[in-house]
Amino acid sequence: MNLDVLVFSAHPDDAELSMGGTIARLSKNGFKVGLIDITRGELGTRGTAETRQQEAFKSAIILKTAVRENLNIPDGNIQTDKENLVKVIIELRKYKPRIIFAPHFNDRHPDHINASRLIKEAMFSSGLPKIKTFDKEVPQDAFRPKKLFYYMQTYTFEPSFIVDISDTFETKMKAIKCFESQFHDPKNTEPETFISRPEFLSYIEARAHFYGFQIGKKFGEPFFCEEKIELDLTHVIKG
Ligand SMILES: [Zn+2]
Repeated sequence: MNLDVLVFSAHPDDAELSMGGTIARLSKNGFKVGLIDITRGELGTRGTAETRQQEAFKSAIILKTAVRENLNIPDGNIQTDKENLVKVIIELRKYKPRIIFAPHFNDRHPDHINASRLIKEAMFSSGLPKIKTFDKEVPQDAFRPKKLFYYMQTYTFEPSFIVDISDTFETKMKAIKCFESQFHDPKNTEPETFISRPEFLSYIEARAHFYGFQIGKKFGEPFFCEEKIELDLTHVIKG
């Protein structure tokens, strides 16, 4: 099955927090979106790898993604080595997405930085025919997505563009709340983390307002692209 968009994240719940509204909007508009978590988040302070996996599947149903997979690379050790590159290249060649998303390369969490580097390098290498990969023993053709966009995690950046998520903001918050082990829950007695404080979800909402306002919309999600992006003026005039 070919996908239109493939979203890579270091940990289950990263994609929902950073671009859940965009994923829901793409799915709603009929595009096939896949979500690939690189690790199972087993080093996370709260929850277990198993609970996080169940939460991830629940969220994928809400976001209506066509695929949700996990590469099972060890949490805290996302190396850009041959083994990990091949794992990502196999996914790119299998699903042939036109656009891929990855964490921004400057962030607080080292896993996000490492994931960003791994995806960028795999995207380039995936287009090289001399790098041979196999999907269930069948040789794969070289394939390179057209665009790599980075989403925002803890550190902010000046966005290259902002996606209007006014119609899907509620869906995004529903998907985030599937990760009960990670966010504020008065009944949870596990240690508090950066994201389990009650203020955290208010911050996510405030950020969506902040970026939405900048494009004249209620809610928005910011993205960064290292390359220049063409703008279709007809779309601006008629849209
Ligand atoms: Zn993360």
